[in-house]
Parts: sequence; C-alpha cells; structure tokens
Amino acid sequence: MTVGRTHIVGAGIAGLSAALAITRQGGEAVLYEAAPQPGGRCRTIHPDHGFAHDNGTHVLFTANRHALNLLKAVGARARWIEPERKGLPLYETHTGTMRQIGLSPWSWLRRSHRPAGLGITDLARILRLAFSAQECPVASIIGDRPIMDSLIGPLTIAVLNTPPNVASAQRLGLALRRLMWPRASRLLVAGTGLSEDLVRPAVETLQTQGVPILAGQRLRHLVTSRDRVIGLSLTDRTVALGPDERVILALPPYEIGRLLPALPVPRRFEAILNVHFRLAGPERPRFIGVTGARAQWLLVRRDHVSVTISAADATLNEIAADLASAVWHEIAPILSHIGIDASAARQPEARVVKEKRATIRQDATLLPQPPRLPLANLALAGDWLGVLPATIESAVISGEEAAAVLERSPSAGTHAARHHSPRREDAA
Ligand SMILES: Cc1cc2nc3c(=O)[nH]c(=O)nc-3n(C[C@H](O)[C@H](O)[C@H](O)COP(=O)(O)OP(=O)(O)OC[C@H]3O[C@@H](n4cnc5c(N)ncnc54)[C@H](O)[C@@H]3O)c2cc1C
Repeated sequence: MTVGRTHIVGAGIAGLSAALAITRQGGEAVLYEAAPQPGGRCRTIHPDHGFAHDNGTHVLFTANRHALNLLKAVGARARWIEPERKGLPLYETHTGTMRQIGLSPWSWLRRSHRPAGLGITDLARILRLAFSAQECPVASIIGDRPIMDSLIGPLTIAVLNTPPNVASAQRLGLALRRLMWPRASRLLVAGTGLSEDLVRPAVETLQTQGVPILAGQRLRHLVTSRDRVIGLSLTDRTVALGPDERVILALPPYEIGRLLPALPVPRRFEAILNVHFRLAGPERPRFIGVTGARAQWLLVRRDHVSVTISAADATLNEIAADLASAVWHEIAPILSHIGIDASAARQPEARVVKEKRATIRQDATLLPQPPRLPLANLALAGDWLGVLPATIESAVISGEEAAAVLERSPSAGTHAARHHSPRREDAA
C-alpha cells in the first residue's frame, strides 16, 4: 500500500503534534492554519508597543509525559522551568498570609506542606475522587470541607476550567491519579513564553523536516466522495487529494461540527481571562496561587505579571478597565509580599485577554465524542477528544493518536476512491 501526503488542518498543539508524529513514521505532511501564525490557543502576543505576554499562563505538570516528550523531541525541554521547587505558594486573601502546599499526596507527609484544613477523612474523600467509579460532580464527593477552598476547588478550576459544583469527578480523578506518582506533580512554566519555548521550536523542527506550514489558510469545507475526502477548499485555493492522501483535522469541536455536521461534538465551553500588568519582576519567574479572590494564579515574570481567572464566564462582560483595577487591588499586596515594589494606588499598564472558548466545559455529563476516524482517510485531533482534561497534554496525545489511527487503517492510503465522482464541483 502506498501512503501519500497527510494534510493537517489546524496548527495548534494537536496539529503540530500530529505533524511530528507523521514525520516520525517517515511520512510527508503539510499544515494549513487559518490564523496568521501557528500555535492556536498557545501563543505569545507581541503588541506594537509595550510588553509581550502569552495569551494566558500555561502550566505543565511533570506527569504530562507526552507534552514533555514533544518538548524533548523539538529540543525545548530545558526551556520549561520549575518556578516553585519548594512547594506551591498559596496566598490566602482573607488573612493576608502565604503558605506553601504540596500538590502530591506524598508531600503531605510533611505537615508544613499540607493544604489548610486537611484531615484524615479528607484523604478518604480525595481517594474516592481519584478512583471515582461513577460520574458525578467533584463537589458531591468533597462537600463543603475546608479542603474544597484550600486545594480541590482551585485544582478543579485550574485543571478542568469548570466550576467544582458541576465539574467531572472522573476527569479530575484521572488527572489526580497521574499526579500521585512520585515526582509527577512538579509544576513547569515556559521560561520565556509559549511561542519562544514551545511553538517556535516545534515549527523549526518541522521545517527542517521539510513540512510546509501555510498560514492564513482556513478550511472552508471538505470535498468528499463516498467515505473519503478528495479535496480541501481553503481560503484562496482548493487542494485536490490523491487516492493515497490523508487528512487530519486538528480543530476545535465547533469547527468539526461545522465541517462534518453529522458528528457528535461538545458544544459548551468555558472562558479563561488573563490580566497582564507591566512591572519590574524577578529574574526567575514566580508562580503563586490565590484563594478568596477573583485572581486565581499569578505568574510573575521579569517584565510583567499575568493573572489568571479560569471558569470566567461571570467575568466576561465586565469592562476591561474596571476588571484590571479590581484585580490589581487584589494582587498588589501579594506582589509586595514577595518583595516587588507594588502599591494598590499605582496601577501599571494593563492588558486584558479574554478567551471565550478557552476549553470545552468538562462537566459530569457524558460529553459527546465522535469516532477518531470518521471517514476512511480522515482522522480527528484536538484537546477535546478523549477522557483526559482538555490541555496541552491531551492535544499532544490526540495528534499522535490521529497519526497512529491513519497508519493502522487499511483503507486510509489505498486507491479505493480513484473512480469516485466528487460531491462538490470545486474539487478539481
Ligand atoms: C488562557 C488559556 C490558558 C490555558 N492554560 C492551560 C494550562 O495551564 N495548561 C494546559 O495544558 N493547557 C492550558 N490551556 C489549554 C491549551 O491551550 C489547549 O488545550 C491547547 O492549546 C489546545 O490545542 P489544540 O491544537 O487542540 O487546539 P487549538 O489551539 O485551538 O488549535 C486549533 C487551530 O486550528 C486553527 N483553525 C480553526 N479553524 C480552522 C479552519 N477552519 N481552518 C484552518 N485552521 C483552523 C486555529 O486557528 C488554531 O490554530 C489553556 C488555554 C487557554 C485559552
């Protein structure tokens, strides 16, 4: 059987991962991306004036093996650093105090690293959550115990971007089980930024392997014949596919729903909002959790601080300037606490980035999942596929699985479609 080019649509992390997997198999790939640049939801924003910052802070855990392997494969693993080696600093707004907590249950053997209020019955609840046999909301297992505020609530929102009263216990349980392995819960961030430390190294690796990345090319529709794709109608061209060519759609679910309306896809999303303030920060990034405030996480870099608010639907319609002011008042004392010259009365330049569909809503209902190979020569990828939380890790895995499913499929690269007539006229 001959296997021709694989056309990958979407150059986010899932698409880049798929392209790397195809080239590892010895195959030929080409990427099409609607935006002017690759990276998708992982990107650094470089405005004409002022400071550059990521769209939003992204963290990886050392449990995210596939993501870390991708970083190694593109020579970027050393660019991701652990900002808080001694435990995660958590600032409690009501008391104005900061304590360090461990994210792994092993670290709780040290009293100083236990989340506030953790008791012996909580360990049983956390185990029930980690090995939850039935689907239910996270809050229905943890209840109103103090660890909901000091650990499980912030972790649920950070990992699932969904409030704990509706978030899926099984999805969080999967993540918790992965974090339980020794040294799996170390938290990493990009040393400089997402484009510099993730996207650009992946793109450069693909380019050295001869993979073209065509930006500004939105897939308008697929041209199909029977069960195969025979053409891609893009922004300014139509690409006709040979009988041995394949397609990977590495796209968000709403795009899959538009292109292939018969497929079941998740249709509810959650927002993430980031407020970035320009300031003189430390040489090495700091990462701090916050409880009792709207601000949830602070990533303090050399020239700015990024403040994350996940599951942010309630905040989306607020006027950006008002929100920035409120968030600055919350974080100025935290910055002072770590030795940065910050006063609530002196708010620096701020930028608000709202990602309305940051991830799918990962609640305790059964999320619709399409087949990975809905057409004979077309596979799907994207962070929303599968049972893991929708993150960089699941995006990387989905790209690898799309390449593998095409490789395994007997009809993906055959000549079966040669005599089919196109369903749309512009396939030629
Ligand atoms: C603010 C924020 C914070 C986050 N924090 C974390 C975190 O801390 N840790 C973590 O692991 N994950 C985090 N995530 C999630 C992570 O960004 C995503 O899981 C991951 O980037 C998804 O990659 P993807 O390739 O599946 O999708 P996308 O990044 O959405 O890529 C899809 C690509 O397809 C392109 N496209 C869309 N339609 C078309 C079309 N018709 N034709 C051609 N191209 C098209 C898009 O422009 C995009 O480039 C965060 C996300 C956001 C928004």
